[in-house]
Amino acid sequence: MNVSFYTLGCKVNQFETEAMTQLFRDEAFEVIEPGKASDVFVINSCTVTSASDKKTRNMISRFKRMNQDAIIVLAGCYAQSKQEDLKNEGNIDIIIGTKYKDKVVEFVNEHIETKNMVFKVDEFNRDEIYENLTITHTEERTRANIKIQDGCRQFCTYCIIPYVRGPVRSREIKDVLDEIIHLHQNGYKEIVLNGIHITSYGFDLTDTNLVRLIREINTLNLEGVRFRLGSLEPRVISEALIQEMIKGDFCDHFHLSLQSGSNSVLDRMNRRYTTEGYYDKVELIRRYMPDAGITTDVIVGFPGETEEEFEETCQFIEKVRFSKVHVFPFSPREGTKAFDMPDQITGKIKKERTNRLIGLCNRVSQDFYERFLDRTVDVLYEQRDEKGYYIGHATNYLTTHTYSDDDLHNARKHVRVSSIDSHTLITEEVTL
Ligand code: SF4
Repeated sequence: MNVSFYTLGCKVNQFETEAMTQLFRDEAFEVIEPGKASDVFVINSCTVTSASDKKTRNMISRFKRMNQDAIIVLAGCYAQSKQEDLKNEGNIDIIIGTKYKDKVVEFVNEHIETKNMVFKVDEFNRDEIYENLTITHTEERTRANIKIQDGCRQFCTYCIIPYVRGPVRSREIKDVLDEIIHLHQNGYKEIVLNGIHITSYGFDLTDTNLVRLIREINTLNLEGVRFRLGSLEPRVISEALIQEMIKGDFCDHFHLSLQSGSNSVLDRMNRRYTTEGYYDKVELIRRYMPDAGITTDVIVGFPGETEEEFEETCQFIEKVRFSKVHVFPFSPREGTKAFDMPDQITGKIKKERTNRLIGLCNRVSQDFYERFLDRTVDVLYEQRDEKGYYIGHATNYLTTHTYSDDDLHNARKHVRVSSIDSHTLITEEVTL
């Protein structure tokens, strides 16, 4: 039988799809390209916005139309949050939430045998344990995203994730190290440590935190592989963390979740930091890593956001000089506090502010790129475009294009930046 996957959402979902792919391969299923008619369709869903919910629903009907007899497996956050509605949907054969992805092949076999719907969605309890999915290969052949943690207990008022991902569960250091060693043996040159909330890594284990994990990774002394951290909150940034990163081959890139540059909005969001505290951490990073790329996410049009509060966000973004900002209009999620907050912002205002902010963020980002003209950057090449340029990323996550007749795929090089195009460093000369 063959199987195809459709993945929505974050890097954790992508990792979990890779791990499920491996489980199907181990049981002799042929894995075919996403979107092709297959015997089994696995949709690994997301529910972070209403747009992701809609996409999942469209995919369920689309895959059923492609093959009436196909087995449809719905996994992930949308399945977890809308479990009761989906049970009676009729189009879905197997529903698993954010747990039990490690048993997906068992459930498919059970369905083949019994023809009954398999429904495996549980509520979370306090003693939930980390579900140890593993990967040795990924579809992307240069960079591997690995999962070190699941769950979140921050309850930001706009976010549905703590309800669908449950409490914090961290992966044992030994398991993380084993996976890194395998990926290194399989030729990966970059490994990204991801999770739902990696700031909380280790809270549920003894004597374990992100600093210790980085230290243990450094002791592996693996040659030719660099490491990157996934999304962080400012409070986890400390002198100890940065010093440990510098000792090893950790990239000078920080995705520091901001969400708003206004203290009153941050308070309504329950974000537990202020812009002043955030800025202190940015300065700390730059003291040790002056060229660090700092990327972030911002939500526009949170309930009650005034024009002044929006303006504060704009000013803060200029002050920090982010290398890239992902701007999202606020999407109310039923079951969260922000859903019921007064003074919801109209779609028109959200759209207008989003466009304004994207314009500003593009300019701030371009300024950051300009700083690297005539300088040398450390790049890992990922793919080649149709014009013969190899596309890669520098350690600080700036995009680079290098023209070359040689095969640079999965090569790591120091290259000189000869010009800057829109949000791209153009490098022509390879300095080995
Ligand atoms: S920290 Fe906040 S935004 Fe991030 S997953 Fe947890 S609740 Fe959601």
